[in-house]
Amino acid sequence: MQRLYSNEIGEQHFGKEIKIAGWVEDIRNLGGIAFVILRDRYGRMQITAIKKENKDAFKKLVSLNRESVVMAYGICQENEKVMNGWELLLKNFEVLSQAQAPLPMGVIDKVNVDFDTRLDNRIIDLRKDEVKAIFEIRHSFIKFASEYLEKHRFINVHTPKITAMSSEGGTEVFRIDYFGKPAYLVQSPQLYKQMLMATGFDRVYEIAWYFRAEQHDTTRHLNESTAIDVEMAFIDSEEDVMKISEGLTNYAIQKIMEENEKQLDLLKVSVDLPSLPYPRIKYDEVVEILQRETEFKWGDDLGTDEENLLAKHIDYELYFIKDFPLESKPFYAMPRDKYARAFDLEFKGMEISSGAQRIHRYNMLVERMKNLGMNIENFEEYLKAFRYGMPPHGGFGYGIERFLMRFLNLGNIRECILFPRDRKRLTP
Ligand code: ATP
Ligand code: MG
Repeated sequence: MQRLYSNEIGEQHFGKEIKIAGWVEDIRNLGGIAFVILRDRYGRMQITAIKKENKDAFKKLVSLNRESVVMAYGICQENEKVMNGWELLLKNFEVLSQAQAPLPMGVIDKVNVDFDTRLDNRIIDLRKDEVKAIFEIRHSFIKFASEYLEKHRFINVHTPKITAMSSEGGTEVFRIDYFGKPAYLVQSPQLYKQMLMATGFDRVYEIAWYFRAEQHDTTRHLNESTAIDVEMAFIDSEEDVMKISEGLTNYAIQKIMEENEKQLDLLKVSVDLPSLPYPRIKYDEVVEILQRETEFKWGDDLGTDEENLLAKHIDYELYFIKDFPLESKPFYAMPRDKYARAFDLEFKGMEISSGAQRIHRYNMLVERMKNLGMNIENFEEYLKAFRYGMPPHGGFGYGIERFLMRFLNLGNIRECILFPRDRKRLTP
């Protein structure tokens, strides 16, 4: 007999024998009759056991520890008073795994446990509906973003995460020992996705890992994070890239609203689909706004405080900041006078994505790198890609956890990744 999920069972099963499996969430023993709530991936089911019908099974069932895993067989009995409108009248069951007691933390208890305890016991934490919902939405976000990109001819690629090219700059990298040679974990696929623009794969995307060795201690930084990285060739300007970025965002939001209503309800998130195009605010305008209330100077970086303050002055949740000072962006950003053809996508006052048109001209790129004091030799393999036919191109990196954190109004980015890595946490 095939095991059925809770959401597959309905009228068609009434009166028939079925097999279900899951975690024992609760046991109520009333003496002659016992009710067990079994939880599977999609919901909960009630098992009803009557003592006089099967004494042994009854005894074994009521003595189970919570969160044990069982497979149960019985008749699916219609019952309007029970959740789902049916209950399983127990015939027999197998204990697939007895859980130890006490549990390090509860699954359904209303007791608040602190975040570290939750993360230390993530395998149990993830059994909670509202925690699981985050990862179901995460799955949807990646699926729909990919769907959007594929509709726009992007091809999914995987570039190396171990590299000899030190850094694209801007952040600390993790050093590793590669058979006695120094190597690094990539901080992003930036250099490789650009190299791919020289191959004829003129639109690529990657669901990528970022490794960053910065000693962050914030609610918005991880040392290992994920992103949707996009690179596209034959663009006229960074505006072409921004269109993909906002299009992807709206498409994913709309599809999540359609597909994940249950999860959004659980997380108490209500969403209005933003209208396209998103507003574009120039860095110079940002300076003007910030200078009304702060000492902000042209050329300064936008920190958390500045981003929050700015958000108060803008009536949109999602907007771009563009035309940054050239010096504030990495070497590969295409200049326009003293500006970079670069943009950040802001969501409720936090950067969730950065992108730009890139320099595709070899001489210009080398000159820019030299001006910044970079060692050209370290980037030989990257530069090679610019010598044999490189079209104009641009792209962006889009933080998956950052998007989710803002979309779901979560206070800490660690909520959005299964097993977070931060300065203090290397386990589980
Ligand atoms: P920030 O200035 O906020 O630290 P960044 O400008 O260094 O970010 P980028 O190099 O522009 O980040 O990376 C592209 C995107 O990847 C960011 O917009 C963000 O969404 C995400 N991202 C970058 N670093 C991290 C990190 N340490 N933790 C989580 N997400 C990150
Ligand atoms: Mg950035």
